[in-house]
This record gives sequence, structure tokens and C-alpha cells, in this order.
Amino acid sequence: MSEGARDLTAAIRAKLASGELPSATPEKVWAGKGTGLPRRACGLPITVNNIEFEVDLPGVRAAMRLHQGCLTVWDQYRKDFPPEDVAAFRRRKFI
Ligand SMILES: [Zn+2]
Repeated sequence: MSEGARDLTAAIRAKLASGELPSATPEKVWAGKGTGLPRRACGLPITVNNIEFEVDLPGVRAAMRLHQGCLTVWDQYRKDFPPEDVAAFRRRKFI
């Protein structure tokens, strides 16, 4: 694993542990064009030249948007954390 990949993994694990990123199983994942806005997992924008992945989570209206690499790491490590209750998501408005 490269240093960058290790940093990303550590950042995403820390956000899962703090609750900043959800651990729920996605209902659907969509792929689309980036919008240039910074994204929660890594804090970096997904440019219009890149593919953005929209993750629909149970009980949450707005999708969480991630880079492909961030989605892969998040999906791999979210399973290490207990699934959250939906009410907690809504209160935190994590998107
Ligand atoms: Zn990212």
C-alpha cells in the first residue's frame, strides 16, 4: 500500500470511528460526473473530469458522494463498525 493510500485508509477509518462517516450498508450506488465540490471522506473535490459515486443510505434523503478510491476504502472498512441507527444519521446531517 502506498503512503497516500495508507493516509486515505487511516483518514476514512478515523471518520468511521468518530461517526463523521456512516457505517450503514448502502441501498444503491450510482456513478455520475463530478461536480467540483469537496467530498467528506477525503476533503478533496471530485472534478467534472472524474467519476463521482453517489451512495444512497437507508433513511437518508441526500446521497453521500465519494471518489471511486474513497468508496472502495469506505466500503471495505465500514463493515468493521457497528451499523448506525437511521435517526442518528438524520440528527447529524452528515452529508
Ligand atoms: Zn475522496
